[in-house]
Amino acid sequence: MSEQEYRVGNVAALPGTKAMGYLEVPGTLVRMPMTVVNGTEPGPTVLVTGGVHGGEYPGIEAAIRLAAELEPEKLRGRVTVIHLVSPLAFHARQQYVVPEDGRNPNRQFPGMALGTVTERMAHTIMSEVVPQVNAWVDLHGGDIHEALVPFTIFSDSAAPAVQAKSKAMAEVYGIEYVVARNSVAGGTYGAAASAGVPCILTEAGQVGQLDEANTQIHLRGCRNVLKHLGLLAGDLEPVKPIKLLAEFPWVRAEQSGCWYPAVRVGEYVTAGQSIGAVKDYFGNLLQEYHAPASGVVLFAVTSLAMNQDDPLLAVGVA
Ligand SMILES: [Zn+2]
Repeated sequence: MSEQEYRVGNVAALPGTKAMGYLEVPGTLVRMPMTVVNGTEPGPTVLVTGGVHGGEYPGIEAAIRLAAELEPEKLRGRVTVIHLVSPLAFHARQQYVVPEDGRNPNRQFPGMALGTVTERMAHTIMSEVVPQVNAWVDLHGGDIHEALVPFTIFSDSAAPAVQAKSKAMAEVYGIEYVVARNSVAGGTYGAAASAGVPCILTEAGQVGQLDEANTQIHLRGCRNVLKHLGLLAGDLEPVKPIKLLAEFPWVRAEQSGCWYPAVRVGEYVTAGQSIGAVKDYFGNLLQEYHAPASGVVLFAVTSLAMNQDDPLLAVGVA
């Protein structure tokens, strides 16, 4: 074995080569399809993850295509692409959670070696992959029952240098709305911040659809990040300046029932404005909901089915 071999789990690539395989999660049935690309010249190591949520298809498709198009002989540095972090949720067509333990993967990082299935998935990524990387792009979108306008999140709790690098990645990714926030407990970008790794979580795509426009948003973003970090040659594709949002309040359902949204994603709402109602199965009003702040609706749940404590929508506040 060469000293310059790049190994992630059981998958290893010599300089100038690319290897495909699976990142195995010990003690579970989870095998994450993965491509490891080792360039001909030394440079940074970048991780791209798709399908942390199994129903967010444009991010998964972008990861598949990025892995296929990367040419090791044209790469300076190394890239690991995990095409699909949650294959069990993907095949169950399950929103938010991994069916085996009912856990949301984006609430389980950094995970546990001897934890539940999802905790072990998070731990495997954090222990096998992340210690070797200099930057991480985590591809998401609206879930199967969520409408969404694209936005990017990075952690504002990372060390200043890590935060600055994350923001610079968000600026070249090409999504206009950017939220700098403390990570939700157990989120990928918060775990990255704790590990000192610059990271952006990018959201494009919605309502269980694979569409080309959102796939291209993710692909252009990944290519621009790799050029920005010096792994790929060539000019960055020009993108609009970001609009950094100051706050990102979520509204959650206080009861289960039927959800009737009154606003759409991308719409500007004014604080206190009605945003929809939850009714019971007989059509009786249980609660009307109001915008927590003035701003643009970044995502909104579209399903009639609503569960207590689930998000209804979120507002990006300038
Ligand atoms: Zn997601």
